[in-house]
Amino acid sequence: MSSDLIIYNTLSRKKEVFKPIHPTHVGMYVCGPTVYGEPHLGHARPSITFDIVFRYLQHKGLKVRYVRNITDAGHLVDDADHGEDKIAKKARLEKLEPMEVVQFYTIKYHKAVDALNCLPPSIEPRATGHIIEQIEMVKQILENGYAYEVNGSVYLDVNKYNEDFPYGKLSGRNLEDTLENTRTLDGQDEKKSSVDFAIWKKAAPEHIMRWPSPWGDGFPGWHLECSAMSSKYLGDTFDIHGGGMDLVFPHHEAEIAQSNACNKCDPANFWMHNNMITINGQKMGKSLANFINLEEFFSGSHDLLERAYKPMTVRFFILQAHYRSPLDFSNDALQAAEKGLVKLLNAKKTITKLKESSKSTVDVLSLQKDCYQAMNDDFNTPILIAHLFEAVRIINCAKAGTEDLTKEDIKVLSDIFDTFVTTILALKEEEESNNDLSNDIMDIILQIRSSAKSNKDWTTADLIRDELKKLNIEVRDGSEGSSWEIKE
Ligand code: ZN
Repeated sequence: MSSDLIIYNTLSRKKEVFKPIHPTHVGMYVCGPTVYGEPHLGHARPSITFDIVFRYLQHKGLKVRYVRNITDAGHLVDDADHGEDKIAKKARLEKLEPMEVVQFYTIKYHKAVDALNCLPPSIEPRATGHIIEQIEMVKQILENGYAYEVNGSVYLDVNKYNEDFPYGKLSGRNLEDTLENTRTLDGQDEKKSSVDFAIWKKAAPEHIMRWPSPWGDGFPGWHLECSAMSSKYLGDTFDIHGGGMDLVFPHHEAEIAQSNACNKCDPANFWMHNNMITINGQKMGKSLANFINLEEFFSGSHDLLERAYKPMTVRFFILQAHYRSPLDFSNDALQAAEKGLVKLLNAKKTITKLKESSKSTVDVLSLQKDCYQAMNDDFNTPILIAHLFEAVRIINCAKAGTEDLTKEDIKVLSDIFDTFVTTILALKEEEESNNDLSNDIMDIILQIRSSAKSNKDWTTADLIRDELKKLNIEVRDGSEGSSWEIKE
């Protein structure tokens, strides 16, 4: 089922046929989180968007190296060259080491994206683990003449750069617009122009996250880590660079400038950006009361939530919109998604119970083709989901006897669910309820065994223990009664 994969490229503002640089391998870099706060919906959307890309490219038989970074230094509070480092600030407020903050929120982020059933990336590099590479990059940019040093800081000279490479081609902002829109802030006077940005910053005496460099103690500019780490792991030019739409300017524009200033080439052929999420029609913001983190979604512990929503509901909800469309969260929409997901997963279970007919009254092969077509058209998951609901209809009708399916067509339907629901959209039954059920059943079994023992019915007690052992479940008898454990 291979036809061309079309991807919308932010750089050309067009859908283009995706051809990897190496026919069998794909390099993909996605900007990951700055780990100084609770993972939230703004993290969930890119994680899920690029998980779908990762999964689909692999399904097409490509070997994908997916690199997603962890920003653990250099991201300043105002997102530009001013203010405190976000992680150092959190560490100061919480009286922790910056790396304690990083560890704490990295674990939380991993737990959340794991619950959302996102595959881990192939490499997850950290900014602090690549200071040497970043310093080397600054040196090269200086040597190429596109940066200048002032008082221990190094700035990319955007005007000089723009003479040789077009600055602003990703965001569509030309240099004049950018100049007009850039406020001159206090302390920015050491820059030649307000559009210049720091690739290395001198550390003020109170700045605790600092490293020695040829220009004195300092730290890398926020944009630099992605350029240094993507070229290290994927080469100077790789296939796909992804991230949220909010990163197009200045972050990704700066990445393009750094790569060209250092390596004289663009970092990526395809730039993919997911759209933003609003809550009840409003922009999500830390200062607003609508900031709901993922743990709160999963537990329902936020005033705006009518109840808890399982991670798979959140995943399915996000996939019901195309990644380039805005997405609005509301209780109604989430509850509708929850119902839809149950319908979809129930239909999957029904397939095995369908009766075979000698002929089919529906064309499931063309439905399968439509599913591929939706994914090949810029990963159009809402269209794919619409096709899957047509499959749900067919399955339910076949069960009710109003449509007929041959053995072969039942197999095709089963393949459609395996490929698209399980492998690509990665929607699954929540394990939680199964675990609860298993615990309850084990309690009953152990109760029966303990009553057998008190009746001195050792045959039954041993039979239960031995049969459970065959299932790798070990029963232990202790002074406080029996317990059980699944052996790996
Ligand atoms: Zn980045």
